[in-house]
Amino acid sequence: MKKLIIKNTKQEPLWYKMNCTCKKNNVMESFPVKECLHCSYVMKEESIPKEQFFITDPKGKKKLITQITLVRGRHEEVIAWSMI
Ligand SMILES: [Zn+2]
Repeated sequence: MKKLIIKNTKQEPLWYKMNCTCKKNNVMESFPVKECLHCSYVMKEESIPKEQFFITDPKGKKKLITQITLVRGRHEEVIAWSMI
């Protein structure tokens, strides 16, 4: 598969400066058991697709998605992406 074009990328989103609040050697004090914005944002960023993919439209027709646009939240974290 070919590389996906991703729009609205950021070199240094605001949340990169937010510290991880996990206690690394304690599962009960770490994400996802404990809330940690930094780690939840890392997880969201890692879930962004990197290669082109197919979707099926309401008429049952396959469509190749070649680019997406990231939607960002208040800390410039990725909250969603649209296929345009
Ligand atoms: Zn963390």
